[in-house]
Amino acid sequence: LTAKDKEFLLNSIRNIYDFPKEGIVFKDITTLLNNKEAFNLLMTHLEDRYKEYNLDYVAGIDSRGFIFGAALADRLNVGFVPVRKKGKLPGTTVCEKYELEYGFDEVEIHLDAFNEKKDARVLLIDDLIATGGTANAAAKLIKNVKANLVEVCFLLNLTFLDGKKRVEEHANVYTILDI
Ligand code: AMP
Repeated sequence: LTAKDKEFLLNSIRNIYDFPKEGIVFKDITTLLNNKEAFNLLMTHLEDRYKEYNLDYVAGIDSRGFIFGAALADRLNVGFVPVRKKGKLPGTTVCEKYELEYGFDEVEIHLDAFNEKKDARVLLIDDLIATGGTANAAAKLIKNVKANLVEVCFLLNLTFLDGKKRVEEHANVYTILDI
């Protein structure tokens, strides 16, 4: 992507101030999805990067990671696996707790999500990395079910929170827009 492309993508994302609570600047990607040129530019970039990776699956994090992850999986002709917040997946799951600012949350994956393929090559994707807590837990889940986590990808990286290095303990991390 050129600097101009990145600027175009960044400008397609809307800032919502004080959501979900005071002091947070929420990066709203619905305006990117809404803009067919921006959505297409992003998906073509991801397809070009990952077509060389010989992936077996794309795993997406609940819930905006599902949108980019499922669209990318279809472009790459591979399967899609959801990593969900606790209590949403109907089958037998493995779960991983992680710390929030106040309290804990949990993410889950189906135990048999990658069973069709031994040592499945998996890309994990989400829209944004902040503290890295969610992606760190999701990466652990993928390893716990014996898949091969090849890379973790984010559209946006809130660099001041330094979450990337936590996730780098599990796999290479690729971020498109560092802000
Ligand atoms: P974290 O676990 O702290 O890295 O938070 C990442 C998760 O929270 C991702 O699923 C993001 O979609 C969401 N998130 C955190 N901060 C923001 C923000 N400022 N704007 C939009 N989404 C956010």
